[in-house]
Amino acid sequence: MPHNKSVALEFKAAVKQIPVYAAAAGYAQSGPLVRLASNESPYPPLPEVVAAASAALEGVNRYPDPASTKLRGALADRYGVPAERIAVGNGSCDILLAMGDALLEPGAELVYAWPSFSVYPQLEAASGARGIRVPLDRHECHDLDAMAREITVATRLVVVCNPNNPTSTAIELERIAAFAERVPASVCMLIDEAYCEFSLLDDPDASIELLDRHPNLVLLRTFSKIYGLCGLRVGYALCGSRDLPDALSAVRQPFFLNSVAQAAAFEALAHQDEVARRVERVAVARVQLHDGLSELGFEPAPSQANFCWFLLGEERDEASIVDGLARQGVLVRAGSPLGREGALRVSYGTPAENERFLEVLATLL
Ligand SMILES: *Cc1c(COP(=O)(O)O)cnc(C)c1O
Repeated sequence: MPHNKSVALEFKAAVKQIPVYAAAAGYAQSGPLVRLASNESPYPPLPEVVAAASAALEGVNRYPDPASTKLRGALADRYGVPAERIAVGNGSCDILLAMGDALLEPGAELVYAWPSFSVYPQLEAASGARGIRVPLDRHECHDLDAMAREITVATRLVVVCNPNNPTSTAIELERIAAFAERVPASVCMLIDEAYCEFSLLDDPDASIELLDRHPNLVLLRTFSKIYGLCGLRVGYALCGSRDLPDALSAVRQPFFLNSVAQAAAFEALAHQDEVARRVERVAVARVQLHDGLSELGFEPAPSQANFCWFLLGEERDEASIVDGLARQGVLVRAGSPLGREGALRVSYGTPAENERFLEVLATLL
């Protein structure tokens, strides 16, 4: 039998529309790299978290709990949101994409800011819904008035990323609360709070109170950033009603969150003192990079996240700076694939890594 068939597979039309996620480089590179490209934590997980994950490994001959009962219970206790209004996922991106599955279809619309998280465009491409990108204002912040004006009878989902990736900026909860009042009850309003713990603008838990007033509201959070568990993939959504978690269960496979991840996240949640320490370290790194970049003549956006964002200026070429840094072992993200040419997004590393980045950058200017 001949193996070379000449007919190519025919995929559904949406597959061609889905943008390829622009991942950071360097995963295959070895050696002492300074990895500041993916907003990861430079600090390894706590020994207790590693121990919990190892213990869970012993039982992987069994399927994981499909309801993630222990983890959702712990999240319910921590945030005062009933477990049936909490969805978990294989990273918060998994929840995001499942939301697209559950809410969007041709003829529907979704509204989000731009530049913002690079996974949002995938929601429209995968579903055939119409995506409406609302430009950030001149301070690189969400323009909530302009976003409110884009809501129509066709709108199913509105996304606010706060603090915003890639620009690091946040808006006050007061303004988000006022915006929530303007979003019709039939439209799902998602606040992507992947970085909320790092923000000093508002208490990271204050947005939870909005859930009581808005059954259509969803707060999307993750163990990837502050908890430093992105390699294990755990995210969660705190919801204003059980409608969304129920719909997500309908569109997803039952065992989307593996048992090692469930156990590690459960343990990590019990160490809020470590969370506080990490927030402090990030606040210190923020000052270090802000001062260092200012001395080099840049004006980083006011960051409320674990990374910074700044424009390089007309005369500088983004690609040659990113490549120049990479050649010295310092990996950062170029602005172009994130929606703004001539910018850099730099995650905060350890103090020594931040220093190294500033030193190498200085040599390239
Ligand atoms: C990193 C990030 C996430 C988290 O993704 P995970 O799938 O949980 O790792 C979600 N939203 C934004 C805006 C992010 O930057």
